[in-house]
Amino acid sequence: MIPFHSNSRQHAGLAQDLTQALGAIDLTDDTAFGREIEKFEAQLADYCQVGSAVAVASGTDALIIALRALDAPPGAEVITCDFGFYATAASIIMAGFTPVFVDVAPGRMIMDLDAVRDAISPRTAAIVPVHMFGEAVNMPALEELAAQHSIAIVEDVAQALGARTNGQLVGSFGTASGISFNWSKHLSSFSNGGAVLTNDSEIAARVRSLRGHGNAGGFKHTRMGLNSRLNPFEAALLSTKLPHLDTWIARRREIADRYTRNFASSANVITPAATADEAHVFHKYTVRVPDRDGLRKHLTDQGVGTLVCYPWLLHDQPAFEGHSLRAHSFERASNLAAEVISIPVFPELKDAEIDFVSEAIVSYVESAN
Ligand SMILES: *Cc1c(COP(=O)(O)O)cnc(C)c1O
Repeated sequence: MIPFHSNSRQHAGLAQDLTQALGAIDLTDDTAFGREIEKFEAQLADYCQVGSAVAVASGTDALIIALRALDAPPGAEVITCDFGFYATAASIIMAGFTPVFVDVAPGRMIMDLDAVRDAISPRTAAIVPVHMFGEAVNMPALEELAAQHSIAIVEDVAQALGARTNGQLVGSFGTASGISFNWSKHLSSFSNGGAVLTNDSEIAARVRSLRGHGNAGGFKHTRMGLNSRLNPFEAALLSTKLPHLDTWIARRREIADRYTRNFASSANVITPAATADEAHVFHKYTVRVPDRDGLRKHLTDQGVGTLVCYPWLLHDQPAFEGHSLRAHSFERASNLAAEVISIPVFPELKDAEIDFVSEAIVSYVESAN
């Protein structure tokens, strides 16, 4: 059995350190929990090379809070990619804004910057680039575009912590960024966690207020926020794991290279577009195949876990029916949604397992087509 994702293999390797970090929290000290959170926030800000990291309960909360901190008028438009995870678009709506969806770039799974340019209107308040599957959007180019129109950028870094564009880490661009540490991310907590990253101290102060119901002090609430705190035990876990992240990312890249080599002879498997080495952290390794659902069933029968990320375009999500949004029909994004399948890429995967998965895929797509 090769699972799609495994925290247990990672935690087994770190068992001693994790037990020690969690056991060291002094339950008799009322300030210990706050210290765990502040320690992680400082460590994360340092890793991401940003002025502030403000920890919250989830990536979804991080995006909602980062967007609310912009103080944009209710109903203002926020541009993001139509191919993506539900939470990005839901956060835009929950923050009180109108999502405007754009297509993916040709041959890619990330937003098309030309389409972003075309989607900008006088009501656009922000752009939310998503570094999908760990591949960095070209942030210098996006920043230039946003600056021309005085539009804010809130990066969705949920899948891309550690990726760089033009040598700079994602999450450190724009006005603010939202990051997730949910159990499935490449820096994972036991259940949920998130943070807002920013270089703007005023935004950081707003975000700190917004994570506590918009309290401005003395129970005076100046903005409607959320009740969103990172669990201190999660903070201790994340603090223990963060120093290993770069090693894990290096291994993810190795695994991706091995898959891509294994698929090189099979025209029916379209592998992720080549990028600069540092631009992709392979949070997911996602290929395109002709008979995606058949392949998925075949892999399940072989004991290989997979995930279809994502079969629905965001503007089509039933939950958004009745909400105001803007989308056209997107041929590239629609094709992706029909063809993508994500296969195991967690760093503890063994070479023999990578080759087993590759072989199972190649033999299926070559015989079925
Ligand atoms: C996981 C994820 C989120 C939401 O994060 P949670 O911590 O699960 O709330 C948002 N955007 C993207 C792209 C994600 O992958």
